[in-house]
Amino acid sequence: MRYISLGVMFYMLAALIWWTILLSNYNAQVYTLQVSKVNSTSVPVTIESADSALKKYEKNKAMIIGEGFVFGISLIIGTYFIQRSYNNQIETNLRQKNFLLSISHELKSPLAAIKLNIDTLLKRKNIEADQREQLYQDMAFENNRLDKLISNLLLAAKLNKTYQYNFEKTDIVPIIKSVVKNIEVLYPKIKCSFDFEDTLVLDVDKEAIYSLIYNITENAAKYTPNYQGVILIKPNQNLKEISIDIADQGIGIDPRERTKIFDQFYRIGQEETRQSKGTGLGLFIAQQIIIAHKGKITISDNKPNGSIFSLTIPKTA
Ligand code: ADP
Repeated sequence: MRYISLGVMFYMLAALIWWTILLSNYNAQVYTLQVSKVNSTSVPVTIESADSALKKYEKNKAMIIGEGFVFGISLIIGTYFIQRSYNNQIETNLRQKNFLLSISHELKSPLAAIKLNIDTLLKRKNIEADQREQLYQDMAFENNRLDKLISNLLLAAKLNKTYQYNFEKTDIVPIIKSVVKNIEVLYPKIKCSFDFEDTLVLDVDKEAIYSLIYNITENAAKYTPNYQGVILIKPNQNLKEISIDIADQGIGIDPRERTKIFDQFYRIGQEETRQSKGTGLGLFIAQQIIIAHKGKITISDNKPNGSIFSLTIPKTA
């Protein structure tokens, strides 16, 4: 499509230039004819008639070149916009296809795992106590995943339209601690390091801030190979703002992807080949929430590997 539209544009530009030159030549010929016709009659060429033929020639020439130029520019701008919206459409289609693939997988796999465990518990009555415990724990894990997924889907839909933020002065330290606890239950080989004894008071929507910190921290765990490593959560505050750095030892993020990953449904790579689970909603939600709190998210590289997500939120007066 890109080559077709570029081809059509170049053809039309060439045709436009050709017609401009042709019309200019005709205009010059008409002018010469007019002058020679007046010369050939017995009536002598008056200054006015030669003058008016020249004026007409100049006027037509300016019109042909001017309009040719305007058409040419319009053609280039038009082709650029058509191409851009075509590219956007292709990208949106791909993201929607990826989203449908991932969402059906994300919904089906926990349900299938829970069903399998229930079947095992029903069929095998003489199952060992620790095995039974493990099956219950796995079901709780899958149930939690499903719950988080559905909450994210609902929150993303609400944030797009109807979500009503309820801002209140809140110490966000207990919120961070609750995120840490839930992540460590869900990812037993991940250790979240958060040693902070002070308070971090901000004017926030509690539910939204939980979701913001949860999504970023869960990504830090999800994109760490084998779900095994340390996530360092380090807050900082001054008179004006509070910032929280969430640093992982994961696969890192290519700088070229860093602005795109906040788009709805955007995930790095192709769904068919991707290892990690997800829907491409987590960072979209995080971005909407941080904007509503007049803050910002920045991403930098962690050393020797991984990423650091820095969340900054201003303290209101
Ligand atoms: P999801 O995790 O459901 O795919 P997100 O919106 O949370 O969706 O993230 C978008 C993409 O950004 C992810 O698919 C992943 O490729 C990338 N990403 C996010 N956080 C990290 C991280 N900490 N390390 C590496 N890649 C990340």
